[in-house]
Amino acid sequence: MKRTIRDLADLKGKVVLLRVDFNVPLDDAGKILDATRVINEIPTIQYLSDKGARIVIISHLGRPKGFDIRKSLWPITLLLSKKLKCNVTFCNYAVGDEVKERISLLGDGDVLLLENIRFYEGETTCDMDFARELASLGKIFVDDAFGVAHRENASNYGVARLLPNAIGFLMEREIKELTQIVENPKKPFVAIIGGAKVETKAKIIDKLLDQADTVIIGGAMAYTFLLAKGKDVGSSLVEPKSIDIARAIIFNAKEKGKKLLLPIDHVCMKERDKSKRVYKVEKMQDDMIGYDIGPKTAKLYAQEIASAGQIFWNGPMGMYEDKRFIKGSKSLAQSIANSKAYSVVGGGDTVAIINACHLASKINFISTGGGASLKFIEEGTLPAIEVIQEKTI
Ligand code: ADP
Ligand code: MG
Repeated sequence: MKRTIRDLADLKGKVVLLRVDFNVPLDDAGKILDATRVINEIPTIQYLSDKGARIVIISHLGRPKGFDIRKSLWPITLLLSKKLKCNVTFCNYAVGDEVKERISLLGDGDVLLLENIRFYEGETTCDMDFARELASLGKIFVDDAFGVAHRENASNYGVARLLPNAIGFLMEREIKELTQIVENPKKPFVAIIGGAKVETKAKIIDKLLDQADTVIIGGAMAYTFLLAKGKDVGSSLVEPKSIDIARAIIFNAKEKGKKLLLPIDHVCMKERDKSKRVYKVEKMQDDMIGYDIGPKTAKLYAQEIASAGQIFWNGPMGMYEDKRFIKGSKSLAQSIANSKAYSVVGGGDTVAIINACHLASKINFISTGGGASLKFIEEGTLPAIEVIQEKTI
């Protein structure tokens, strides 16, 4: 068990460096389009503030190359001051004399939000000199940035190696929920994996075949699996490189006595008339491209979900960004919401679908990580979590 902020005694007056994931979508005017990531972080910040810590928040936003005003964390300051019962200020830098000066002005329970840590080159390269500069700003390091815990960056992995440390409430919950999936899932455990690429999902499917009773496949990657089984996939997106991997997964499922479900019908378009007709078919013609699972598949998957004790879902069933191909993913989301099973959902696009369907309240746990959640399930831990101290009893 990792040390959490509850295990930190005597925080009063101490400068706590808190790494969070405030990577929110912003429009051109700096308006926050989805504040979930900030809202999720409030309990940790408020707890530290109530204990009298002087909180210095570090986060990234997007993938800027050097300073970029459109990727400034400044717009989050106002939201934080609305949600927190303490003083919140912003600093235009993340290291250096001005930051030190501003920290010296903090009172107990105050919050200082630093500028986007990715404006500094040393962050993603995990430059240890840069990490030392950051670490010199505080006495304790708290990591609550689950979304980047699979990356060895200076402000999580680096700083954690230099200061006494702990995890925050969000990280604690993510670890608990995702560990439960792999170590103690309620049975029958139905895992649903969709999305575009076999390559990025092969490892998690393999891992889930050990834990789950049924693995359901959807999205573009289903076509590589269908092709590996010798089925007609028309002109759908397939990954020639991954056909062998798909074949191995199909073989493993059989060996382990697990159910591996693939789509039995499809929503397609013909190559030539892209913006026009949509076809629902069981057998694809040569010039057809599959963009979503069909109604029979949705029904088959819904039946499996209805009798599940545990569900994990990552990856859309189709190219949902186009409204004509969102139905399969929507119906899957609805089936999960209707089921009595304990449900966990992860992945940027998958969570976007849950939110678009207004079903978030019907899901037991929505992981805030994309790549991080998948990697955690695959590996059982993540680099930035590994470097956090164990709880001493
Ligand atoms: P998540 O972000 O939830 O982990 P992924 O990023 O793995 O999900 O996959 C989402 C992407 O997969 C979406 O951009 C979606 O359009 C694409 N996709 C799914 N099915 C298809 C399909 N049949 N054809 C083209 N793209 C697809
Ligand atoms: Mg995605």
